[in-house]
Amino acid sequence: MKDLFQPLCLTAYLGGKCPLNCLYCYSDKNRPIDNTISNEALKKVLYIVAKNCLANKVPLAIVFHGVNEPLLYQKKIVNILKIAQEVANDCNLKLFRACTTCGVVSNHIIEWAKNNFDHITLSWDGPDFVHNRNRPLKNGKGSSSAVRKAAEIILQSKCALTVRSTVTIETSEHILNTVFFFKQQGIERVVFNPVYPNRNNSFIEKLVPPPKLFAFSFLKARAWGIANDMEIIFPGVRPRETHDRYCSILQKNLAITSDGYFSFCFLVTHFIDCQDMQFQIGHIENDQIFYKNENLKRFFKIIKRGFKQCEKCFNKNHCAKCCPTICPMLHSYSKSFDCSAEKIIGNVLLFEQENGPIPFEEIDCYLNKIIS
Ligand code: SF4
Ligand code: SF4
Ligand code: SF4
Repeated sequence: MKDLFQPLCLTAYLGGKCPLNCLYCYSDKNRPIDNTISNEALKKVLYIVAKNCLANKVPLAIVFHGVNEPLLYQKKIVNILKIAQEVANDCNLKLFRACTTCGVVSNHIIEWAKNNFDHITLSWDGPDFVHNRNRPLKNGKGSSSAVRKAAEIILQSKCALTVRSTVTIETSEHILNTVFFFKQQGIERVVFNPVYPNRNNSFIEKLVPPPKLFAFSFLKARAWGIANDMEIIFPGVRPRETHDRYCSILQKNLAITSDGYFSFCFLVTHFIDCQDMQFQIGHIENDQIFYKNENLKRFFKIIKRGFKQCEKCFNKNHCAKCCPTICPMLHSYSKSFDCSAEKIIGNVLLFEQENGPIPFEEIDCYLNKIIS
């Protein structure tokens, strides 16, 4: 595997515990609840990543990610961070620690997290009425007071905070109001993502915002954010970097599922029923690591080819190409799809690369020119 893929980051999925019942949850209800990876195996995996980090002179990065609430696994994280620190020390590397959270854990755990992570991504969809509708607790009550408190605690620390706000059809017209709200809460960096359907379409498809409406609303909010010292991001288009789909391989990220597989798709976080096996590139068994090179080779062959409509696009080096809604592993080369949000946002962001930011007062006029 090492000739094909040299990861610089380890992402660990810890299990399926979660206090929420989000409208747009993409996780599989049958996912395993606990993590079965031994310390021995974890150490081996961390050394694989650390050696690449050493060769590339970058810190060893470890991330705890979703389909769960990672901070409900605090004890496990303490153990994993301890091992990661030992590996980093042994390789003379700095350790970079990141975590996502929905914020619905005790204040005590958030206090611990802010002192033990370098970066936290907090899922927070906006004002209370929006957040409570999108991200209720399992008992149906709102979770906004917990997420507000979590943000307040993290903001008092040196830990970097990014808010991740999921945009539905209900909120797509109001991204600017959401940004006003976050500004009032002291948030400086917000990532907006339109909701995407999951593989088994278990949520209502009509939640997905119309692409053009999302793009216009996002760009207006972004222009206001720039003028008010905020960073407003759509991860689907990144003009300052060469960027592709979110597959962990392309991000140089080794993602390990709670049941001990290496998955390259963030929609596939366990292999408990042996479905989706094409998305794994190896697994751990009896503390040994086994690679599936044929899947890795197949991945590169298919991803490189991509889709016909992207071949000559101005945006192709900066665009996530509608991943995960559209996936070359599942859809054919000739599939055509609506990527108007990526095109509009790509157009504006690349223009700004050359000419500087479009002022908030002028953004409507510029957007009207694009569509006329
Ligand atoms: S926090 Fe994540 S795993 Fe939990 S319900 Fe929401 S989307 Fe699903
Ligand atoms: S949906 Fe497809 S393109 Fe997107 S991360 Fe998964 S495998 Fe990669
Ligand atoms: S804007 Fe559309 S055509 Fe262009 S690279 Fe992105 S998905 Fe492909």
